[in-house]
Amino acid sequence: MRYGIVADIHSNLAAFSAVLADMERRGGVTELWCLGDVVGYGPDPCQCIELLRQQPHIAVAGNHDWAAIGKVDTSWFNPDAAAAAHWTGRQLTPEDTHYLESLPLTVAKDSFTLVHGSPRDPIFEYLLSTSDGEENFAHFQTQFCCVGHSHVPLVFELDKAGNCSLTEFPAETAITLAGNRLIINPGGVGQPRNGDPHASYAIYDSEARTVTRYRVAYDISATQSRMMEQGLPRRLIARLSYGV
Ligand code: ZN
Repeated sequence: MRYGIVADIHSNLAAFSAVLADMERRGGVTELWCLGDVVGYGPDPCQCIELLRQQPHIAVAGNHDWAAIGKVDTSWFNPDAAAAAHWTGRQLTPEDTHYLESLPLTVAKDSFTLVHGSPRDPIFEYLLSTSDGEENFAHFQTQFCCVGHSHVPLVFELDKAGNCSLTEFPAETAITLAGNRLIINPGGVGQPRNGDPHASYAIYDSEARTVTRYRVAYDISATQSRMMEQGLPRRLIARLSYGV
């Protein structure tokens, strides 16, 4: 089976659509695994929820999903993120709200645990350092874990001796799943932050035992125009051009 792993769609319909089309071009997937933050920042929250729900999928909640439905206090957010979260909340239909409310924090599927931030703190923790990664291996039971939240494609690897290493997750290079435990971030679909403005996602092939990351060009200016129309913060519009 092949699974599409997507994180941080962030209401960016052009990016999400391009990622789904890219998966199709590569032979399709049986199911999408969505690592949270379907909404927030971008201009098309309802359309992104609708498109996600049209796919066979499992999903977990992210901090922006909770912020949009008033489940976390946006005083923790920077002013631009808070403004976008409040705008997003006003766009959602009751059905969208109900869908976001229903998302679990953690799902175990196959040999993977899926969370947004980290296994230790699924909503808020950013996994960006080797020490934080290492500590988090004690907080999930499966061999592998997928996280989002930082929007940076990374792989944490814990070997049999208990040593943790952290590497970038390169694009178009298959990671082979063997004996070591891994925490994998596929990068962000709708607001990449690794200095590369392409949308980023991964495919897990359960027969080949590989996870491969792909980067996908999408119409960034279409998303930026939609954000301008909606009066979303300028800094959020500009950053999409740079992937920061
Ligand atoms: Zn995010």
